[in-house]
Amino acid sequence: MSVTDSPPSTGVDPEHLVCPGCREVVECAPPLGWPARAGAVPQFSHRDGSVLCPDSRGRFGEPVEAHAHPTSFVNAVRSAVAR
Ligand SMILES: [Zn+2]
Repeated sequence: MSVTDSPPSTGVDPEHLVCPGCREVVECAPPLGWPARAGAVPQFSHRDGSVLCPDSRGRFGEPVEAHAHPTSFVNAVRSAVAR
């Protein structure tokens, strides 16, 4: 598996996406070792390949834009990746 593939086009610069828990810049790649029973694989991970920290609502794998309102940003990503 390669992590050098181009990330899906979300219309958002990945450099501006951070983990909602630790504020680390995220990688546009699924986390390593995501258990299948946990459901849909997140689109993003920490740069070391681990799952993003849960956000304030306890959701995993949802990055936030560093300088934007998290909810509106997440909705924008969802509509972008749904195409
Ligand atoms: Zn984190």
